[in-house]
Order: sequence, then structure tokens, then C-alpha cells
Amino acid sequence: MTKWVYGFGAGRNDGKADMRNLLGGKGANLAEMASIGLPVPPGFTITTEVCTYYYDNGKQYPKELTDQVNEALARIENAVGMKFGDAANPLLVSVRSGARVSMPGMMDTVLNLGLNDETVLGLAKRSGDDRFAWDSYRRFIQMYGSVVLGVDHHRFEEIIEEAKHASGAVEDTELAAADWQKVVAGYKEMVAEATGKPFPLDPQEQLWGAVGAVFGSWMNPRANTYRRLHDIPASWGTAVNVQAMVFGNMGNDCATGVCFTRDPSTGENIFYGEYLINAQGEDVVAGIRTPQPMSKARAKPGETSMEEAMPEAYAELCKVRETLERHYTDMQDIEFTVQSNKLYMLQTRNGKRTAAASLKVAVDMAEEGLIDHPEAVKRVAPGSLDQLLHPTLDPKASRKVLTKGLPASPGAACGVVVFSAEEAEARANKGEAVILVRIETSPEDIAGMHAAKGILTTRGGMTSHAAVVARGMGRPCVAGAGGVVVDYAAGTLSAGGTLVHAGETITLDGATGEVFLGAVAMIEPQLSGDFATLMGWADAVRRLKVRANAETPLDADTARKFGAEGIGLCRTEHMFFDADRIGSVRQMIMSETEGGRRDALAKLLPFQRSDFVELFRIMAGLPVTIRLLDPPLHEFLPHKDEELAEVAAGLGTDLATMKRRAADLSEANPMLGHRGCRLGVTYPEIYEMQARAIFEAAIQVAKETGSAPVPEIMIPLVGMKKELEITRAQVDKVAQEVFAETGTTLDYSVGTMIELPRAALTADKIAEVADFFSFGTNDLTQTTFGLSRDDAGKFLPYYVEKDILPKDPFVSIDVEGVGALVEIATEKGRKVKNGLKLGICGEHGGDPASIQFCEKVGLDYVSCSPYRVPVARLAAAQAALSGAGADRTA
Ligand code: PEP
Ligand code: MG
Repeated sequence: MTKWVYGFGAGRNDGKADMRNLLGGKGANLAEMASIGLPVPPGFTITTEVCTYYYDNGKQYPKELTDQVNEALARIENAVGMKFGDAANPLLVSVRSGARVSMPGMMDTVLNLGLNDETVLGLAKRSGDDRFAWDSYRRFIQMYGSVVLGVDHHRFEEIIEEAKHASGAVEDTELAAADWQKVVAGYKEMVAEATGKPFPLDPQEQLWGAVGAVFGSWMNPRANTYRRLHDIPASWGTAVNVQAMVFGNMGNDCATGVCFTRDPSTGENIFYGEYLINAQGEDVVAGIRTPQPMSKARAKPGETSMEEAMPEAYAELCKVRETLERHYTDMQDIEFTVQSNKLYMLQTRNGKRTAAASLKVAVDMAEEGLIDHPEAVKRVAPGSLDQLLHPTLDPKASRKVLTKGLPASPGAACGVVVFSAEEAEARANKGEAVILVRIETSPEDIAGMHAAKGILTTRGGMTSHAAVVARGMGRPCVAGAGGVVVDYAAGTLSAGGTLVHAGETITLDGATGEVFLGAVAMIEPQLSGDFATLMGWADAVRRLKVRANAETPLDADTARKFGAEGIGLCRTEHMFFDADRIGSVRQMIMSETEGGRRDALAKLLPFQRSDFVELFRIMAGLPVTIRLLDPPLHEFLPHKDEELAEVAAGLGTDLATMKRRAADLSEANPMLGHRGCRLGVTYPEIYEMQARAIFEAAIQVAKETGSAPVPEIMIPLVGMKKELEITRAQVDKVAQEVFAETGTTLDYSVGTMIELPRAALTADKIAEVADFFSFGTNDLTQTTFGLSRDDAGKFLPYYVEKDILPKDPFVSIDVEGVGALVEIATEKGRKVKNGLKLGICGEHGGDPASIQFCEKVGLDYVSCSPYRVPVARLAAAQAALSGAGADRTA
């Protein structure tokens, strides 16, 4: 018989931490905490397999489920000595969702389940506190009503407001038992009216309603959006956790809190978090009362830390903190409740953290001896380094502070103000940088938060939805900026007497919480300290070399600063657009004779030579792959009449002739037209000039510095061996000429891009004349899919959304198709030439998943844009540690 229900706590632990696929993260960790002796209220987990079963079987549960749930419930009853639905001594439970990975705020929690008109009296008697009992009951109806029955949240708030008004209270806390009793009556009436049915009073019905709501919420639109953004398959399903209630709101010796074992913003090794005395879980995040800090050291004037207010429970919690970190060897995010001075753990999980914190925690834990260096390398998500490599505000820049909130997620961001998630998405899609400003955010806003450069909220703390989600997404965020008044209707925010309209620019500093009017200058990030340490550990374990795609001295400099081990792709056409040379380039293209082209190329030669001299100097002996001219010539064509006239004058001809020539040169499918090596084959003088510039530059730098550059000359868009044979012969001929002229020789190699399916399929033939291959996976993706890389943006997102494609294949390599071609070419190429050097220089060279694939196939290096070099170094290290290349034969 399938086991659908797993118990935990009170001496029975069916699950453990590594069963998160089955029990969800929350359920697995509750079982784990209980098994290492931490105080966990007893409960049970309904597995994710039930969720999958439910959706596969027309929303029916497996038939054994009821019995298994009843049995598990009975075990809790025995353990705590209370009975579900018992009027005198009622067991109350919480119902929480819990998927394999945490999905913040996706599904709500129902607390105090089991309360009704009878059990509320039992609770009042047992606790000796009428007010507590009726408040618990109204909280239950409110949570159950909105989460399970779908009644609008505001309708409950309205009833509370009326009650406060009637009794002259300002805060909820001033309402007495009798007031809450009236609120309960009001709630029940309103729910019956809103749903057409009385509020369910039978605890069994309540329980199954809540369980159904958790499974139902797995497919709600906001959960679907969250999963899409985080690559979480719907098939994983969620588990449901049912647990005996403990109360943090049963008096002043009770409390509840949310904390992290280290600071999730900076990674600092301090106990970080918030707690509230006499409160229930949702009070901490709801922002009605201001949560207080954990430690005395962190308490500001007027605040009371838990360390001071509840020294014993705090001391116990500190022990738990240590136990958890030693046990999980990672920073934990925990929830706890203190009931009558006794501590209970309600949750632990690996804490979400900023990129900076992730780095610091990994390096610190390795240095503390909790983990080893390779483990530290595995701990940091390569993509998150992006955030650390992003600019921060220039301390010297002038600025006008608008307001200050909480530093919820670091990094600086600048953009125009928008007040809704939809607007954020719409403007970001048009290429605008936007700052999403909200009173508070909710899971409905995540797509807009993702589209925004930064997020500003006026309400909520460091564990508010905005803060948690922004940190996870790596968006700078200032939360809880209470000095800001947002008027959604007017589309304005005001702070300190300044009015800012939608569309005006502001700047955020998520590390300090400051908000500035206008744009503030930013500076480049620091690459020393923990960053350098971790990179060093990564370099020690990686096999793949990492190069950069760079053609300007600035890019080459940046690449070296980030640790590039050479240039994997210098796109020479990018050197043709400068003002001082575009004229000669155009003259070359428009000339109808070889002589005319050679004249123009002669003018370009000194420019190209000096470009390469600079690159070789910067790269100081590291390999530099220079790709000869690739794009269709028409990309350089003049468009305006005066430009055409200028070229005409240079060539001694007239405007009409130029116009005709321009028309002749235009192509129906330029990407598949006269480009790449086809240019070199038909106009050999172009590649000859480029080869000459390369060799002359290399020899000049060799003489100047005493160390010879290593040019690797790369021919683009080869589809047939003959094409490489012809163009390679041109290069070799020029090399011999330059060597003879200068009396110096130099090592060089000539290779090809593999960026057409035919090249991949005939790689054995091509390898006979190639010294190396570099996979141009941009074009290879374009040509394998028959999908224009310039037009795909219009419909690819739809494909990804509808799961027709798992990911954008121009971002992450399509392993099945494009990857298969890479594997074929690798195998065929190396069969002919053992040890043939292989690299990748398409955008995929900087994508961690694609790098994992490159490790598996056994490429020698990846090449990516300079800013992604650290990402690639770390991803390459993780790929090596994962053993991806273990079963490689080549
Ligand atoms: C490629 O096609 O992958 C490549 C690197 O070349 P480009 O992007 O310049 O076409
Ligand atoms: Mg290409």
C-alpha cells in the first residue's frame, strides 16, 4: 500500500531532510529537526505524490488517504493529549503548504484549524483567556475564509474596523473578548452571505477544505508565474503539512519570530531576525506591529530585544541556531514560537540570501571549517555573481536624498517611477529602466518585480514579501520607506515635501536604504576579498579554460581584470565602424573592381594593425582568437544620399551608380547570404589584408615586449572543407610573406567556427585543415532551428511560456539538437586530429547550464562577454565538481 502520509515529532519520524521531493522542503525539514532532538510540535505531511495524483485523477484523492490522515491525526492527539473537535480539550492544527523548493508567499497558511462555536469555549477554558480564544477563532475564520473559501480579504478588515469604531478602539489590541465574539458573529454572517453557505463548523470538513485549498493553490496563476520564472516544473507538486498548534499569542510569556542564522543581506555571522511578544506568525510579517530585534547588540533605542525580554528562550534558541548550522552546514531561515516560555521550532530551511551574503557565508563557513573549499565553490550560484559585478553608487557623486527605508536587498538601481507591476512590465519591455514603487508587494507583483531594476515599498520589514523576493531575484530593494506617501490614483509619491510623478527618475541604494531624486553616478564593483578567495578556489578545481569575447581595449582590459585567460572571439567587423575607417570600408564594398577594393583595404591596414597591436599588448602572451570579417557587407552600406555621395566621390563615380550598386548588394536573406568565409572566398583581398595586419602587429609586439603573441586566426561560417582550405591558404601565404619581409617568424594557428549544421556533420573533413574549432552557437542555434536570432524575440517567449521549449535556446544551449551537433563535431574532429583544440564563443559560453554541457562534451574552453567571465569561471568549477565529464572517452 502506498504511504501517502508521513508523521513527524513526538518520537516518530518517518521522513528526513533528503526526502524533500516527496515531503516538500518544509515537511522534510520538520522531520529532520525532530529527529535531531529539536522541539517540534508533532504533525504529519501529506506527500507531493498526493498532489500529483490529485491532478492526474480529476481532482480525486487516493482512496487510502482518509484512513492514513485519520491515523496520523490520532497519533498527534495521543502525543499532546487533546482531541480534534473535542469541546473540552480541543486539538487545533495548522495547515501549511510546502513544495520541494520554497515559493515565498505563493500559498497561504491556515492556523487554529479545529475551532468552532464549541471548541472555542474549550480553548478559552484551557488557556484561561477568553480574549485569546475569541481572537484565535476570528483569526481562523479570517484565514480560512480568505484562503480556502476565497472571500475578499477586505471584507474581514471592514468588520474589524466597525468593531473598533463601535468600541472606540484604535488598535486591534484594544479589542476585548466580547468585541472579538461580535467580530466572529459578523464574520460568519458575512461569509455565509459571500459564499452562499454557512461557515463550516465541522473540524473534519475544515481540515479537508484546507488540504484541498493547498493543492488547488498549486495551480493558481501567481504560482504558475513564479514557477515559470524559477524553472520549477508543475509536476513536482506540493505537500501539505498539518501540525499541532502552539501559540505565540497566549500572553506575555509567548512570542513568535522569524530569523536567519546569519545576516541574509551581508552574510555577517550574527543572529538576525525579528520577533514579537504575544503574537501569532502572521503578525510578524503583516506589519501591524513593529517586530523587535533578536539580539541586544542590534537593538536601537526604544526597542526591546528577545535577548533582554526572554533570556531563557533566547539562550535556547541560540543553541538551536548552532545545532542547525552544524547539522545543515548552511545558513538557516527559521520560524519559531515561544508558548509559555517554552521554545518550539516551526520551520527551518536554507535561507535565501543576496549574492553578497551567499559569497560571504560560503567563504566564512569554509574558513570556520564547517565545509571544504570545493563545497564552498558549489554553494554560490554562478548567475548571482552578476549582482556583485554590478555597479554601486559613487560615494563622490552629488545626490539629493528623497527618503530612507530599510536596506532590503543590496545594489544600486536607477529608473523611472512606475506604480504597478503591469506598467513595470510594459515599460521594461520597451527597454526602459523602471523602479517599481508599491505600498507593499504581493505575489501578484512578481512579474513586475522581475521586470524592474529596483523595488521601493513604503510598508513592510526585512522579511516582507518585497524584501525576500527582491533578494532572491537579485533586484535592489528599499522596503518599508515609511516617509513616502504613495497615491496610486494620482500616480505620485511624495516624500519630505517633494512630489515625484510616475515617469520621473529616482535612484535606490538597496545597501543603505536610501532613495534619491534623479540619477546618481555609479561605480564599478570591488573584485578583491571574499570574491577573489572564492574565485581562487574555483580556479583550483576547474578544467575548462575561460576566455572573453572582446575587441576593444576597454573590453580586453575588463576581461583580464575578471580573470579571462585569453580572447576567444575578437569580432573584427566591430573595428570597422569607427568614424576614421567606415569611409574606407564603404569604398571597399562599393568598388566594383579588385583594384578599387585593394586601394580601400590598403587604407584600412594601418588601422587594423594598430587595433591588434593594442589587443596583443593587453593580452600579454595569452591566446587571442581573431575572427576574420563575418557579417553581410550590406551592414556597412551607407543609407543617406550624402553618405552615398561621399563614397561616390572617393571612388570617382556618381551618385546614381552608387545607388545602383547598393541595390545590387542588397540581399533577401542576408544572414544566409554573402557573408562569412564566402566573402573571403570571393574577395580574397579582404582576408589577406586582415591576416597581414595580424602578423605585422604580432611581430611588432613580439619585438617590443620580447614575448610573442599567440594569434589564432578564425574563419567564420565555414560549411565545407574546401572553404577553409581556400581561406587558410590565403592566410598561410600572407604569413610567409610577412615573415620573409620582417625576417621573423611566429607560431600561429588557423581554425574555424563551427556554426552551421553542415560544418558539424562534416567536422572530420574540416578538421583535416583546421588547427582548432570554436562553436559559434549563436548561428548554430539559428541555423539548426531555422530560427532567425533577430526575429525570434517576437514569439520565443510564448514558446517558453507554453513549454514548447524549456528555455530560450539562444540563452541556454538546446542540448538535444544544437548540443547533439556539438557532440558530433567534437567526436568527428578529434577522431581525425587527436587533441584538436575546441572552444565555444556563442552567448552560451557565459551560461552556467551550457557550461555544464561544455564540460560534459570535453571542450577546452568557453568564451563569453567580459562581465560574465567570473560567472563562467565559477560555473566551470561547479561543472568539474559535478563530475559532468566523468564518462567522457575522448
Ligand atoms: C556565433 O554565431 O555564435 C558567433 C559567436 O558569432 P556571431 O555572434 O558574431 O555571429
Ligand atoms: Mg556567427
